[in-house]
Amino acid sequence: MKKTNILHFEFLVIGSGIAGLNFALEASKFGKVAIVTKKELMESNSNYAQGGIAAVLDKKDSFKKHLEDTLKAGCYLNDKNAVEIMVKEAPKQIKKLIKLGVAFNQLNNKLILTKEGGHSERRIANAKDTTGREIERALIFQVRHNKNIKTFESHLAIDLIVQNQICYGAIVLDKEKNTVDIFYSKAIILATGGSAQVYSRNCNPKIATGDGVAMAARAGAKIQDMEFIQFHPTALNIPGKPTFLISETVRGEGGILKNNKGVAFMNKYHELKDLAPRDIVSRAIFEEMKKNKIYLDLRHKGTEYIKNRFPYLYNELWWFGILMDKDLIPIAPAAHYTCGGVHTNSYGETNIKGLYAFGEVAHTGVHGANRLASNSLLECLVFGSRAVSSATRFVKNLSSIIYHLPTKNSKLKINKTVNPKIKAIKINLQTLMWKNVGIIRETKKLTEALKKLNNYHKNINKILKKGLNKEIIELQNLCQVAILITKAALARKKSIGAHYLLK
Ligand SMILES: Cc1cc2nc3c(=O)[nH]c(=O)nc-3n(C[C@H](O)[C@H](O)[C@H](O)COP(=O)(O)OP(=O)(O)OC[C@H]3O[C@@H](n4cnc5c(N)ncnc54)[C@H](O)[C@@H]3O)c2cc1C
Repeated sequence: MKKTNILHFEFLVIGSGIAGLNFALEASKFGKVAIVTKKELMESNSNYAQGGIAAVLDKKDSFKKHLEDTLKAGCYLNDKNAVEIMVKEAPKQIKKLIKLGVAFNQLNNKLILTKEGGHSERRIANAKDTTGREIERALIFQVRHNKNIKTFESHLAIDLIVQNQICYGAIVLDKEKNTVDIFYSKAIILATGGSAQVYSRNCNPKIATGDGVAMAARAGAKIQDMEFIQFHPTALNIPGKPTFLISETVRGEGGILKNNKGVAFMNKYHELKDLAPRDIVSRAIFEEMKKNKIYLDLRHKGTEYIKNRFPYLYNELWWFGILMDKDLIPIAPAAHYTCGGVHTNSYGETNIKGLYAFGEVAHTGVHGANRLASNSLLECLVFGSRAVSSATRFVKNLSSIIYHLPTKNSKLKINKTVNPKIKAIKINLQTLMWKNVGIIRETKKLTEALKKLNNYHKNINKILKKGLNKEIIELQNLCQVAILITKAALARKKSIGAHYLLK
């Protein structure tokens, strides 16, 4: 067995999306930071965010309106205090990003704001249709030039080291060297993002396997609201092709949902038509799809406008044989965003001392039963920055720290041979979740799903005993998160927001 490396830092950040990078940059003023990330730094949900970040940046708009839109989308199940904090701190965060070098879409030094579903005003700051990538680029540039930050790519966190409700670090698989390393730290930050890979039809990158929620749950952290999985209404729908996301800003800029007879139908479902909250649009499409194929139509905006406003989407769709200015875009809903997660207060603190969470992995209460579009990048920034103050205080107050090496973890062994059963279980699990715990739910099907998931869980544990590799670790996490989602869905007896119970 290869040697275990033991490393020490003040701050250990797990994840290199916008939540993790933003925290690392701010915390680096107060101590040594490690960023552990399971692929390359850039690979994250953040990198694929197209639409933008919501913030009150126009005179016509107000904090009150942003607050009300967020609460309405969340069916008033939100933590109003957390929403208020997020909304009020939003403009400051946008200004900070501009200072850090993020090139938002501007004209004559004025941001060009766009609109998305559920927003009563134009308030989405964007870098056209590659906002996430542009922010990641700017943050990574800063991180790479920061002497207090050390990055560990291809490092997969396996588990948190927690004793007596205090977190001391994480056990990490170095995927290149095939070693199991111990990262000790005074403050441990979960910024591991979402879990939409639990579903067969999803528009998240492969990294979104819910590792943070699963690790935190195993460590005894409080997990909340996992039943609220947001299904994005418009992901590409061509059999055998990726479920590539078509940003909501396409509808924000005039795109219309139509059936195969060319008839717009959203007026039957909501007064905001195509810009109704996502849960309503997704269910409407799901209903219409029983009779028709559904398309998104932006052709009326003209070639010049489309190519200029949506250059990324135009190019990506071209590869699938679709010209946005000439063709209808076939779409269908796909799992997109995890509204629930590791429960925290508004300073990113969890119920485990020294463990912090923010971004998509966390449940701050801002989203309630359904997230308002473009509030998630914002949540990453606002609560990440607030966590810097709480984590720094915690680190400073720790006069000394005793590093424990839990015996059960030091015995972990690696198995380089990937058991073929892993792939089969994963496909079955994802399909089961889509069919039984998807957009429209029934108690009987949820119960059936839970039973099957518990069986998968037993089989996964047997495979785990033979040793660790990326595939089995992620499958274990997917299964644990799937169980959490299904149990939460069974516990919520009435439909609300993203949780729709037919019977
Ligand atoms: C296609 C798409 C479009 C979107 N558009 C928008 C938008 O326009 N506006 C908006 O507000 N939101 C949007 N979202 C949602 C938003 O992008 C995410 O909610 C947000 O980026 C989450 O950021 P994060 O930093 O919390 O997580 P992520 O950006 O997902 O980063 C998680 C990081 O953790 C790492 N990681 C995970 N597990 C482990 C582990 N075990 N060990 C080590 N590293 C690990 C990952 O590799 C990754 O680096 C979109 C999402 C998608 C998928």
